[in-house]
Amino acid sequence: MAARVFTEYTFSMNRRTLLQSLWAAPALAGLPKLTIKDVKVITTSGGARYRWAFLKIITSEPGLYGIGSANNLFQTDAVIAALQSHLRPWLIGKDPDQIEDLWQSSHLKTYWRNGPVNNNVLAAMDMALWDIKGKRAGMPVYELLGGKVRDAVPCYDHVGGADASAAAAAVQKSMASGYRHIRVQFGAYGGGGFIPAGQGSRPEGGRTGQAFDEEVYVERVSKNFEQVRAKVGFEPKLCHDVHSHLSGMNAAEFCRRMQPLQMFFVEDVLAPEQLDWYKEIRKVCTTPQAVGELFTHPFEYYPLISQRLIDFVRCRVSSIGGITPAKKIATMCEVFGCKTAFQEGGDNDPVNQLAAYHVDISSPAFGIQEENHFPASVYDVLPGTAEIRKGYLYGNGKPGLGIDINEELAAKYPMPEARDGGPYRLDRAMDGTVVKP
Ligand code: MG
Repeated sequence: MAARVFTEYTFSMNRRTLLQSLWAAPALAGLPKLTIKDVKVITTSGGARYRWAFLKIITSEPGLYGIGSANNLFQTDAVIAALQSHLRPWLIGKDPDQIEDLWQSSHLKTYWRNGPVNNNVLAAMDMALWDIKGKRAGMPVYELLGGKVRDAVPCYDHVGGADASAAAAAVQKSMASGYRHIRVQFGAYGGGGFIPAGQGSRPEGGRTGQAFDEEVYVERVSKNFEQVRAKVGFEPKLCHDVHSHLSGMNAAEFCRRMQPLQMFFVEDVLAPEQLDWYKEIRKVCTTPQAVGELFTHPFEYYPLISQRLIDFVRCRVSSIGGITPAKKIATMCEVFGCKTAFQEGGDNDPVNQLAAYHVDISSPAFGIQEENHFPASVYDVLPGTAEIRKGYLYGNGKPGLGIDINEELAAKYPMPEARDGGPYRLDRAMDGTVVKP
């Protein structure tokens, strides 16, 4: 009996001591407890024509802050309003060390979750929190994700030409500059599949501009690639982006015709509304599939990865909610033998590029990274912007994301107005029907 009392008393004292020590403890051993003091949205053109928004999370430790990408070319103002009116008042006062909890609770606090605007808000917060965590640790973010598993991040180049001959010359030039992976397009997205303006049979009084035709695309683009391969050989790893312009069997037929050309991948042959067709594509060819530039919800990428229907996941890191979900997607890819090919785009910004870099360089599931390059002015507005040299992306190894924003300079380059609200430019078919981008 005495022994039992002693045991309970000891346990009780130990628990009390433990709880007291936890209450008194700093957030991380040896580091002072932090709170989020302020949250700012910074917009800029970057000294060019960009419509960029960044989130700056300022902590209670003087000089310690983080930066995240809140860039969304087509709904810029909606993301900014969501950050300022809905995230900022909720985030101030919280503990920036709790990245996963803040991500989960921010994801759920809108009740209706996912979607491009919500994901951009999450991503901006998430990147800034990882930036803070890395600075606190004195380590680049990739060290917190497990450390480097490769020396640098290989990127694929973008080249194009009006015809196969021009495209082949562009591929050779890209190879000479050091790229091994090269995406080839024949003009704008859908290029090779357009009937020129004013030509063909048109509805009376209807549109007269260039019109997209699926069967023309399947025929011409596959023939163009045959000619490109005949000139450049099979050393370059070639990619092509269909940008969701094909429907069911045309997508399958296109991939079948591309099989002898040994593509590194073809991208988004189908719109995200038609993902079940990837099962049919698998039945007719082994052309590798890169999919998911428009993904904003796990229900879109999860079945494709887990059923091994695709080979590369193409999400933009900021469009799926930041580094936290990107690392999880990469881990899921690793389990199922899929790879990552995080999306960039001419509208994308250096903070988002670096967020992708930290996941790319630390993930065994990395496949390839889309390139993005910036004018000199951007390196002044955002010092620490990553560099691509001879086909490889390099970060600077500084703590956090490794990038800063010069707010004075950003203010000198205000974000330009979005004409007509900044819509994505849509293609039309011969009868005027809109083509999915
Ligand atoms: Mg794409």
